This record gives sequence, C-alpha cells and structure tokens, in this order.
Amino acid sequence: MDETTGSTVRVANLVRQFRTGTERLTAIDDVSLDVAAGSVVAMTGPSGSGKSTLLHLIGAIEPADAGTVTVDDVEVTGLRRAALARYRQRVGFVFQRYHLLPALTVLDNVIAPVLPRRGHGRHVARARDLLDAVGLAGRERALPAQLSGGQQQRVAIARALMGAPLLLLADEPTGNLDSTTGGQVLDLLLDLRDRYGMTILLATHERAIAARCDRLVRLGDGRIVEDLDLTDGEDPAHTFDRATRLRL
Ligand code: ADP
Repeated sequence: MDETTGSTVRVANLVRQFRTGTERLTAIDDVSLDVAAGSVVAMTGPSGSGKSTLLHLIGAIEPADAGTVTVDDVEVTGLRRAALARYRQRVGFVFQRYHLLPALTVLDNVIAPVLPRRGHGRHVARARDLLDAVGLAGRERALPAQLSGGQQQRVAIARALMGAPLLLLADEPTGNLDSTTGGQVLDLLLDLRDRYGMTILLATHERAIAARCDRLVRLGDGRIVEDLDLTDGEDPAHTFDRATRLRL
C-alpha cells in the first residue's frame, strides 16, 4: 500500500441483488470502476440508484453477488473473516447521521473504534490530534448533544480516521447539514485528503458538493450512467460555474 496517496480501488463487474418477496431487485448491476489513489470521487444519482449499496460493497459491509472489489493489492470480495475484519479496520466510514454514542464524550466517541485494543495513552493522543485536525480542539469533554450538527459530523470524521484509513467512504456526509456547514465539512474532507493522503468516495445528491470533487460518477438504476473528470485544470473554487456547466 502507498502510505502517502491513499488506496487505489478497482471495481469489476460488480453485482448486488436483493430479494423482496418474490421480486429480485438488482441494486448494483454490473458496475466497473477504477479509482485513482488520493482522488475524491462523488457518487451521485437519485435516491435508490445504488450509491449506498456501492459504498457498502467497497467497504465490505455487504457481500457482493458477483464481481470483484480490489483495494490496492487485496481482493476484498474474496476475503474471509479475519482478513475481512482487518480490512474493515483500515477503511473509514462516515454517515449522514453521525452515529455518535450520546452518553460518551467527544474524545471517547473518537476512541471508541479502537477501545478493545491496547495502548490507551497512544489512542488518546491520536484522538486529540484528530480532534485538533477537524477543528474541535478544546471540545474533547463535551457530549454530542452539546455540539452543532456540523461539529458532530467533524467528530464522526475524526472517529473514522482513528484507524489511519487509506480509504474513506462517506455516505451523504453533508445530507443533514445546511449548505454552508455542508460546504465546510467538504472543505475539511479535502483538507484531510491532502494532509493524510486518502482516497475518498462520497455519496451525495447535492450538486454543489459533487461539483467540488475530482470526479463525478452518476448512478442510475444500479449502473454508471455518467463518469466525469472534474479536475481538468480548472480552479476548484469555481464550484458554481462547474455545477451550472455540468447541469448537476
Ligand atoms: P441510494 O443510496 O442511491 O439511495 P441504495 O443503494 O440505498 O440507493 O439502494 C439501491 C436499491 O437497493 C434501492 O432500490 C433500495 O430499495 C434497494 N435496497 C438497498 N438495500 C436493501 C436491502 N437491505 N433490502 C432490500 N432492498 C434494498
């Protein structure tokens, strides 16, 4: 694995089906996708188009019915229990609803994923550094309910980084936030990508968010219907122009 630029992700002919009664629904329908190390890719598409399912398959929190997901040199879809658990520990997840534990302090929420492991002092030091990196130094002892939505999402992002992931999967990370706060959370993710060298896959239906990513992959009925490189030499600050031009 490349420790400075993030993981490469290769999805090949991926299929995921769900059975609902007698019906069989193909949520991911023969999707193939190569993601460069260190890029920030927006997955867009209407509700039900397969964004979350694709992230779950890449993060190995759901099994695929066919096809492969390969992250760096590891074929994730072929992993068995122990190796799968190790893989999941190296992937960061961020969700729309922050999923913080309400009775735990901010600091303990960030440490929670690594709690059963040894080296408590080291974990505390890392959690403090991460809270500093997400702009929450000084709020370590607060409870989640004492924070704004944007701050809670920052805690969730710090928690996702505890395992030093090379791949961060974010499912509608700005979906519960107003557009200004959502934009700030995206700023943070882009900054963290530059700082820690991660690849980020982000599901969003917000055009202003998608337009600021390096690449836009649009899903429709479980298939990729559009795949755009958004970097082509433009100033990334021109988000509105890009959104307009792309008719997102
Ligand atoms: P999106 O994230 O784009 O809204 P999803 O990946 O959540 O889309 O869903 C894709 C399709 O798969 C939808 O039709 C959804 O209803 C279906 N689906 C997702 N998860 C399940 C599940 N656990 N059981 C049955 N159907 C599911």
